[in-house]
Amino acid sequence: MEPDPSVQISLRVEQVFESAEKGREILCNYAIQEGFELHKSKNDARRLTNKCKGDECSWRMHVSSLPDDVTFKIRSITEDHVNRRRVMDNNEAATKWVVSMTSLLIRDNPNVKAKVLQTQIKSAYGVEPIKCKIYRAKRKELMMLKSDHVGCYGQLRKHGNILLQMNLGSLAVVGIDKLGVTSKFQRFFAHLMHS
Ligand SMILES: [Zn+2]
Repeated sequence: MEPDPSVQISLRVEQVFESAEKGREILCNYAIQEGFELHKSKNDARRLTNKCKGDECSWRMHVSSLPDDVTFKIRSITEDHVNRRRVMDNNEAATKWVVSMTSLLIRDNPNVKAKVLQTQIKSAYGVEPIKCKIYRAKRKELMMLKSDHVGCYGQLRKHGNILLQMNLGSLAVVGIDKLGVTSKFQRFFAHLMHS
């Protein structure tokens, strides 16, 4: 399941990531959300310490693998940052470029792996954007896709209302599946009564 990019990410001790890859993705997105840059300081197969790049900031998070060697758990995490600065804009241009490069690939397959995108950009342009940038691009693209969808379904309702006004006695229903806080389009049903 792709994480919903519009949902606020929070991290806490004991939180478990289903894989190292997933953990990195969530952490990258968390750093983007919180507006700090990550500095990886220790990185082996079982343990990972991430620090904040900010000068004088002691924010850090320790993660280590569980006995299954697949899932990872947050062992400790600093509450907050010292002198937090928004660093988002610094990378905006580079992100835009990656977004435009990966846009179609992501639209085509929203579940495409960051690694695949990275390889494709490298073979096409000879540069290898860091994974964090790709995650960020993916997040942007998914947000855009999501708002496109919201717009489309809004249009569907409008379309239904016009049908009803034009054809008195008709029936138009937009079926929605409620899944927790999100809703999923189910069907559009129209029965036209011609006058
Ligand atoms: Zn910091």
